[in-house]
Amino acid sequence: MEYYGSIEAGGTKFVCAVADEDLQIVDRISLPTTLPEETLNQVFEFFDSYQLKALGVGSFGPIDVNQKSSTYGYITSTPKIGWTNMDLLGTLKARFAIPIAWTTDVNAAAYGEIHLGAGKGTQSCIYLTVGTGIGGGAVVNGAVLQGFSHPEMGHITVQRYPNDTLECVCPYHDNCLEGLAAGPALEKRTGIKGQLLEVAHEAWSIEAFYLAQSLMNYTLVLSPEKIILGGGVMKQTHLLPKIRESLEQQLGGYVSLPDLEEYIVGCGLGDNSGTMGCLLLAKEQRGLM
Ligand code: ADP
Ligand code: ZN
Repeated sequence: MEYYGSIEAGGTKFVCAVADEDLQIVDRISLPTTLPEETLNQVFEFFDSYQLKALGVGSFGPIDVNQKSSTYGYITSTPKIGWTNMDLLGTLKARFAIPIAWTTDVNAAAYGEIHLGAGKGTQSCIYLTVGTGIGGGAVVNGAVLQGFSHPEMGHITVQRYPNDTLECVCPYHDNCLEGLAAGPALEKRTGIKGQLLEVAHEAWSIEAFYLAQSLMNYTLVLSPEKIILGGGVMKQTHLLPKIRESLEQQLGGYVSLPDLEEYIVGCGLGDNSGTMGCLLLAKEQRGLM
């Protein structure tokens, strides 16, 4: 029997899965991300029991997705020790003589969601994760969006919420979305972890304001058919309605959007968006090889 493999390479953990021809998952493992050699040896060991036809990799980044680049397939400027300028795709290719699809973790999640999850039936979507960081991926005309590099939707500049004086958590920027609205920013603003913060706290309005502002900008640039939100912070189910409301206010009626309850939605695949996306990319060889 032949199988497809998936690697969701995250900064905290690597989730690997094996699926059959119908993309039914037959095996899965979650490994802590330590040093490359240690983590990858465990990855190799996991896949050794299977005859893989192709592999799909969705990686934390920034990564090099430009085939013309000499560092194509590398994880590039991550601060994560051992992984800076690391040739992840090359290392995998040296081990597995099979086609390997390569993209970002969030592009893979967007791909999974559009084909099998909340974006089913559409041709374009954005997937945004709001967790330790904020990252966004997009599918346009059915294919993941990559240009000279990949989107970095978490680092767009946002206008401040009135009187928000929080020092931006991002070391690169003073006013970016991730630095003002990812989990660590939410916690820094209140002194309380997001999971413990009461629903009535003003910080949720601030959170909704920043996320809605960003979704407005993505909407104005890309006009996707759907925006899908995931990540730990979005486990707060009261946030979605707050974001929709703030988006409507900030847009000021300039463009008419689809029904917001249909347009801005949670994940359809739960925690499986990335894995399913990687498996699909492996099967379809849509990723750049
Ligand atoms: P990661 O981004 O590391 O993959 P998560 O998506 O779980 O992992 O994001 C972790 C961040 O999200 C932390 O800052 C945490 O405080 C916050 N977070 C996790 N779960 C929740 C929750 N249920 N409600 C609000 N914030 C949460
Ligand atoms: Zn930033």
